Amino acid sequence: MQFHHHGYVSGDPRIEPAAGTGVDRPAELPEQIDVLIVGSGPAGMLAAAQLAQFPSVTTRLVERRPGRLAIGQADGIQARSVETFQAFGFAERITAEAYQITEMAFWKPDPRDPSRIVRSARAQDDPHGISEFPHLIVNQARVLDYFAEFAASSPARITPDYGYEFVGLTVGDGEFPVAVTLKHTAGAEEGTERTVHAKYVVGADGARSRVRSSIGCTLAGDAANHAWGVMDVVASTDFPDIRLKCAIQSHDGGSILLIPREGGHLFRMYVDLGEVPADDAGNVRKTTIEQIIAQANAILSPYTLDVRNVAWHSVYEVGHRLTDRFDDVLPEELGDRTPRVFITGDACHTHSAKAGQGMNVSMQDGFNIAWKLGHVLEGRSPASLLSTYSAERQVVAKNLIDFDKTWSTMMAKKPEEFSSPSELEDFYVRTAEFPAGFMTEYTPSMIVGGAEQQELAAGFPVGKRFKSARAVRVSDTNPLHLGHQAKADGRWRIYVFADPALPGTDSPTDALGEWLASSPESPLAAQPAGGDDDAWFDARVIYQHPHTEIDINAVPRAFKPEVGPFRLTDLNKVYGVDPAADIFDERQLDRAGVVVVVRPDQYVATVLPLTATGELGAFFAGVRGERATAQA
Ligand code: FAD
Repeated sequence: MQFHHHGYVSGDPRIEPAAGTGVDRPAELPEQIDVLIVGSGPAGMLAAAQLAQFPSVTTRLVERRPGRLAIGQADGIQARSVETFQAFGFAERITAEAYQITEMAFWKPDPRDPSRIVRSARAQDDPHGISEFPHLIVNQARVLDYFAEFAASSPARITPDYGYEFVGLTVGDGEFPVAVTLKHTAGAEEGTERTVHAKYVVGADGARSRVRSSIGCTLAGDAANHAWGVMDVVASTDFPDIRLKCAIQSHDGGSILLIPREGGHLFRMYVDLGEVPADDAGNVRKTTIEQIIAQANAILSPYTLDVRNVAWHSVYEVGHRLTDRFDDVLPEELGDRTPRVFITGDACHTHSAKAGQGMNVSMQDGFNIAWKLGHVLEGRSPASLLSTYSAERQVVAKNLIDFDKTWSTMMAKKPEEFSSPSELEDFYVRTAEFPAGFMTEYTPSMIVGGAEQQELAAGFPVGKRFKSARAVRVSDTNPLHLGHQAKADGRWRIYVFADPALPGTDSPTDALGEWLASSPESPLAAQPAGGDDDAWFDARVIYQHPHTEIDINAVPRAFKPEVGPFRLTDLNKVYGVDPAADIFDERQLDRAGVVVVVRPDQYVATVLPLTATGELGAFFAGVRGERATAQA
C-alpha cells in the first residue's frame, strides 16, 4: 500500500483523499447520475466499490432495505473471491474472522445398519494448490460491510442510498437516456415516487429483479425449484464433525450440507426439502424451524442435535435459471447500438446453494461491468467495450449452471444410485478448480488477445485470472506476491518479465522500457497530461537476477514513474527473482523475456515477446477503440 505521496498522512492511510464527485457529494439523490446501481447485494456493492475508484463518475446505489443487511443469505467464499478481496484491501481482515475450509467429510449410511450414518471419506479442499488464498465461510453481511467500507473510503466516497425501491425504467435519447422511477420505502416520503436520469443502470437486484423485467429479459430453466431448510444455529451435539464441512446422506435419501461458520460455534445446515413442483403455491415456505430441526435429527441418527439458539433460518427455494441476455440490447440490435442497462448476479442466473457459488459469481459480474463503465465514462475506451460484459459473463453463468446441476443431482442421489462408493467425493476432488472460481476463461475480444504467443508464458493462460507468484522488490528487498500489488484501482497492468541481461545494457528490456516511456504508440502515451505517469497503466519489471544484482538507477524510467503533486519517483515496481521460488520457473516464462498484460479485473489479456511493441501498441489501440496504426 502506498501513501504519503501527497504529503504526510497522519490518519488511517486506507481512507484515500476525496476527489472529483467525492468532494461535496450530495446526501440526496441527484436528478442526473452517470451510473445508477440497483441493489446492495454482493454484485451491487462490488460494482459500487470499484466505481468509487473513478471519482470523475457520479455513481449512486439505491437499495430498498432501510439499512445494511444484518444476517443470513450466502456464506461460501471461494478462493477466487478472496483473491478479489485482496485487490479491495480486506483479504487478510476477513480471513482472520472467517471459518477456513481445509477438508470436507462425507457421511453415508452404515452398510451394516443403514439407519445409522458413518463417515465414509474425507477430501482435501484444495488438493492441487489452485490458489495461495483460502476457501472461507463468512456471512454475506460481513462481505458487504467490507465493500461498503472500501467504497466510502475511496475518492468518490460512495455510500448506499437506502430506502429507495426501483419501480421501472425507460431508455430514451440524450446524455442521460435512462429514466428510472424510484419509490421511497422509508422515511417521511414513504410511498412517494420520483424519477432520476442515468447514463447507465446496473441491475443488481437479485433473483426477482425488476430491472431484468423492465428490459424484457426472461429467465429460462427448470420449471421446478429445489428447496432447502437453511438454519444458522448454535447447538449441543455428539456429531463429531460438526466443525467440518460435510455432505451427509441418510438411508432414506434425506441429506444435509453442513457448513461450519465463523467464530467456532455457529454452523449452518442445509436440510434438503426436495423438488418443489411449479404448482406448490409457496407451501414449501411454510416449513417451520421445528420441522427443519426434526428432519436434521432424523438424518443425523444415531447422533443428536440439541439446538440452543437459532440465529437465522429460511426456506431457500431456487431453480437453475439463466436469462437470455445480460443487457438491454435485443438480438436484432446487436452491432447497431451499445447497452445502457445491465443485469448482474442473481438477476441473471440462479442455481442451488450446494456448490457455494451465488455470492461469488455475482461479485465477479459486478467486477466485470464496473471497471468497463468507469473506463467508458472516463473516455479511456469506447462504449463498445460494454458489449463484452454480456458476452463474457453469460458463458460463465451457463457453465456454472451446468456444473451445479451435476453437483446437486449427485448430492440428491440415494446411496444405491451411485456407480461407485466414492463417486461423490471423486467428483468433488476432480472438479475442485470450478467451485474455487478459477475455470473462467474469457475468449478473444477487444480486451483479450489470441493465444498465439502463449508458449512464452504457459503459466499465465490468456483469458484466465493472473495467478500470482513471488518476486523480490528491489527497493526494499521485500519478497512479495506480485499479483497482490495490483489493487482494484481500474488500471491495466503491464508486467515485463525481462530478458537475461541486467538493466542499463541496451537489452531488449531496456528498449521496451524506452518505447513504453517515449513512443507515441505506447499505451502510456494515452494517459491524461499532468497526472501521474502511471495513472492508467501500471508497468512493472521483473528481472531474472536476485535483487542484490539490480542497479535501480539503471532501470528504464517506464518502471519508475513520477507520481503525486511532488512528482516523487516510485521505486516499488522493480523486482528480482526469489531464488527459492523463481517466478520464471513457477509460471513457465520464456527466458528470452515476455510481456504479460493483465486487465483491471485481474484476467490475463495478452502475452507478447519483448520486441512486439507494434502488437502491444495495436492491442491497446483496440482497447481505446482506435484503428491500430502500429504494426509488428
Ligand atoms: P442479492 O444478494 O439478492 O441482492 C439484491 C439486493 O437488491 C438486495 O439487497 C435487495 O434488497 C435489493 N433489491 C431487490 N429488489 C430491489 C428493488 N426493486 N429496488 C431496490 N433494491 C432492490 N445463497 C447461498 O449460497 N446460500 C443460502 O443459504 C442463500 N440464502 C439466501 C436467502 C435469501 C433470502 C436470499 C435472497 C438469497 C440467498 N442466497 C443464498 C443467494 C445469495 O445470497 C445470492 O446468490 C447472492 O446474494 C447474489 O447476489 P446479488 O448481489 O446478485 O443479489
